[in-house]
Amino acid sequence: MTAMESMEYSRNAFDFIDDQQLNSKLREPAPEAGEVRRIIAKSMDKQPLDLDETAVLLRVQDPDLLQEIFAGAKELKRQVYGNRIVLFAPLYIGSECVNDCQYCAFRRGNPEAVRRTLASEDIAAQVKSLEDKGHKRLILVFGEHPRYDAEFIAESVREVYKVKSGHGEIRRVNINAAPLNTEGFRKVKEAGIGTYQIFQETYHHPTYAEMHPQGTRKSDYLYRLDGLNRAMEAGCDDVGIGALFGLYDWRFEVLGLVAHALNLQNNYGGGPHTISFPRLRPASGVKLEEHWRVSDEEFLRLIAILRLAVPYTGLICTARETPEMRRRAMEFGVSQIDAGSRIELGGYTESGDAQIMEREQFSLGDIRGLDTVIRELLEDGYVPSFCTACYRLGRTGEHFMEFAIPGFIKRYCDPNALTTLTEYLVDYASAETRRAGEKVLADQLAEMEESEQKKQLRERLRQIQESDRRDLYF
Ligand code: SAM
Ligand code: SF4
Repeated sequence: MTAMESMEYSRNAFDFIDDQQLNSKLREPAPEAGEVRRIIAKSMDKQPLDLDETAVLLRVQDPDLLQEIFAGAKELKRQVYGNRIVLFAPLYIGSECVNDCQYCAFRRGNPEAVRRTLASEDIAAQVKSLEDKGHKRLILVFGEHPRYDAEFIAESVREVYKVKSGHGEIRRVNINAAPLNTEGFRKVKEAGIGTYQIFQETYHHPTYAEMHPQGTRKSDYLYRLDGLNRAMEAGCDDVGIGALFGLYDWRFEVLGLVAHALNLQNNYGGGPHTISFPRLRPASGVKLEEHWRVSDEEFLRLIAILRLAVPYTGLICTARETPEMRRRAMEFGVSQIDAGSRIELGGYTESGDAQIMEREQFSLGDIRGLDTVIRELLEDGYVPSFCTACYRLGRTGEHFMEFAIPGFIKRYCDPNALTTLTEYLVDYASAETRRAGEKVLADQLAEMEESEQKKQLRERLRQIQESDRRDLYF
């Protein structure tokens, strides 16, 4: 099928974003210290915040209270996620696009964009290159075009899973693409996708209309807002939401994201698996006003507030940000990052270290290689993880069970982080990274209580180190 899918809605389709209501919550006076502390304490008790409570945190101006928000987010992150950081890489499949999003180099009105769609042999070459560096988790990214229908996306996913290189394989493929209809989501689910991400870009209706010209598919705000409802109804119960920060007031967008998360939770009993909050980056052929530019300090604030508002939702910070910002973002709540990313079409094999603006959607702030990123994580005391166990064992959707089931993280996430880190150290790491990794491995093992499972874990680590056995997960 090459025609665009029909644009039908889910059974829960409803525009739950009321601009006036959200803005009025943000215009109330700065809150009292006691109220702010009560809300932080609620988050520390690992309870999600409602819109009013989130708005209170967004209205804080007092520097001491802001510090308390940061301290709370840091502690909550430590308690809920420990020191694991999940790593992935983006793979751009096609830059054709029928939309005209004012912020994006792929928009149809940009004559400078070099259009390209990877053929299956190009996908194979890109994936091989990613596997040879040690990647196990990818996100495939698509423009919106009749060529990129559900069948095409599903086929791309299958192509990726087919590629094996040495001990390398991709074990989880996520998607960032235009919203599909329910039937389309069913097709991509069958191909074995992990998370399906759709960013609303901006939750503010007038800004949405300004950024997405009438007559384009993306101009339908509700169809996009409803996209992940349809995904849920089609059985894709692992979804990611996001907003593009810099188009409108960042505080409003945080409320939009929290409202969206609550809506999914109320309709389907499970909120989004992840939230993304890309900041607008320079892009070829794009000239936007900087009126709503989000400063570094505001960016960290929004991450800390999101961490407190949705304690159990993964937060993703991409290589749009600089290494230094990413490091700080991880401190206050981010649990997943991409590494060694190239976003030019074919960039993993063709473009060396330079970024070629006309061939990419926007420019990146962090183009360090995977090994360097992993080494820095290890030196900062993090445990880089390539774990994909839950999705492959059908433990999806209720990702909150990671947190709801006592001991889940200790039983599954921590050991799986160590087995996948060991695979990386044995198969791909530089000597320096291996040294840093072995130290972290030894420290982590020393901290684990003796148990039958720890014995099993030691045995698995030994097998990875001394044999060809891989992919040994709990
Ligand atoms: N075409 C699909 C869509 O629009 O949903 C896939 C998404 S697009 C290829 C990935 C995301 O990149 C967009 O949803 C947008 O949030 C983000 N993006 C676009 N232009 C950007 C820019 N100049 N700076 C930072 N992020 C940008
Ligand atoms: Fe196309 Fe997506 Fe870029 Fe919009 S953001 S122009 S839909 S690729």
